[in-house]
Amino acid sequence: MKKIVVFDGVLRMINGTQINYYFICKTKLWLFSHNIQLEHESENVNLGKILHENSFKREKDFLIDNLISIDFIKIRDSIEIHEVKKTQKMEMSHEFQLLYYMYYLKNEKDINNIKGFLDYPKNRKKEEVILTKEKENELLRIIDDINYINENKMPKPKKSKICRKCAYFEFCFS
Ligand code: SF4
Repeated sequence: MKKIVVFDGVLRMINGTQINYYFICKTKLWLFSHNIQLEHESENVNLGKILHENSFKREKDFLIDNLISIDFIKIRDSIEIHEVKKTQKMEMSHEFQLLYYMYYLKNEKDINNIKGFLDYPKNRKKEEVILTKEKENELLRIIDDINYINENKMPKPKKSKICRKCAYFEFCFS
């Protein structure tokens, strides 16, 4: 399989969760990337899973290359990929996670007629996300930055309002 990211002359692959965490917290990104994964303990994450399961019972998750996990796919004139989220609060993380999926399918699987949608069942909303050239360049810069963060020491935890719902809270602040 050809790889899509060159960093310091080394080819690297990243997954959708890492793109998501990049926007949420760099410490969280680093911990997750180094296989320190505590997310199953987080009530917040479980709520998201329950919401997803109840709202889209008939749909299936698609795991591709063990890197990207698409919540569901619809085949129409184009291929629609959907990412289900419980809140619109972290829009940038949602948008770029989905943009990464679209970029991956386009560049790694040669699928060009893709449409991306963010679904917010709690608000009964659906937003289309478009992979423009500008977004693609921004995404590549973000991927480079993620690789740089992961190559270096763990970023110092900074307390914010999202910390109290984070599975790493005890790890960061006890
Ligand atoms: S507890 Fe806060 S600083 Fe630590 S990983 Fe979670 S969000 Fe980041």
